[in-house]
Amino acid sequence: MIQEQLVLYRKYRPQSFSEIIGQEHIIQTLTNALAMNRIAHAYLFTGPRGTGKTTIARLLAKAVNCQDSKKAEPCNKCPACQEISQGKSLDLIEIDAASNRGIDEMRELRDGIKFSPTNLKYKVFVIDECHQLTKEAFNALLKTLEEPPAHAIFILATTEIHKVPQTIISRCQRFDFHKLPLDKIVERLSWIAKQEKVTIEKPALELIALNADGAVRDGESLLGQVMAMEDKQITLEEVQTILGVTDIRAVQSLIDFMIEKDNGQAIGHINQISAQGYDLIQFTKSSINYLRKILILKVDPDLDKLVAAELTKEQKEVIIKQGQKLDQSDLIKMIHAFVQAGNEIKLADFPQLPLELAVVECCS
Ligand SMILES: [Zn+2]
Repeated sequence: MIQEQLVLYRKYRPQSFSEIIGQEHIIQTLTNALAMNRIAHAYLFTGPRGTGKTTIARLLAKAVNCQDSKKAEPCNKCPACQEISQGKSLDLIEIDAASNRGIDEMRELRDGIKFSPTNLKYKVFVIDECHQLTKEAFNALLKTLEEPPAHAIFILATTEIHKVPQTIISRCQRFDFHKLPLDKIVERLSWIAKQEKVTIEKPALELIALNADGAVRDGESLLGQVMAMEDKQITLEEVQTILGVTDIRAVQSLIDFMIEKDNGQAIGHINQISAQGYDLIQFTKSSINYLRKILILKVDPDLDKLVAAELTKEQKEVIIKQGQKLDQSDLIKMIHAFVQAGNEIKLADFPQLPLELAVVECCS
């Protein structure tokens, strides 16, 4: 299964800037600079995991070294591009600071940096998870960044910018990566499924994308898990079983019943979900998160950026409509009731009971 996930991730790794989804602000700035041949010697890529930092770092390494680059895009055909694509280049040095705190690498880097690139125009050092470097390693790096040789480019990537010393940050051109909106991840996964000649229902794709939580790489890896079943027609039910989660629509229906103040239907719904074997703790968490979104969009629809990574356009519309049908005070009451249910459910003899109580309390 691991194999399958890796295959998907590698197979569809973008080979040009135009293939990257999201991060438009970064691509725009980088490609403009490349087109004008304005290349910095140190870049800092910061943002959540799986949002494309190392992918863009590799593309940048290719673009600066490409012998036949057009409009800032690497040609992917010249010897420089091919060497990098095949992972064979001695001039693209990737250091994972998470697995090794980097002391030896930094020493090697300091000694090796004086030498010109072997084959390429630039030596590119990509230091992933750079916040994990030791103090000594950071000091060594800082010395290098103070006077970088003309043939060297550093790309530092981190998920925890607050752990990177200010002295390092100030020497780099900084780019902030964002989580991807749900719609974009759905689009990407749907494209991959098509390439793989697999049909997946849209709600199933949306559920996979939701669980990726804004990280396209996680989405691709979950899609790999689902496709490992070797089923060519994948349904929502199958994805729910594999991921062990319920669909947002299960939560949506519960809220609808509560808006209608239909106790009976709401309690029946909870018991149905439980009977289907879904984890009620997870379901309660999803319900709280869902109510939070109703609240956010009711308070101010312009706050939709806060929920973009978790909702498609259609889902957002449903949430806004549900919010219109609820008084703010009722909504707050519901959130408190579900939070309380969430606290009690772990200790309850009947896991449905705290949720049932929450429903009755809110509907009466
Ligand atoms: Zn090229």
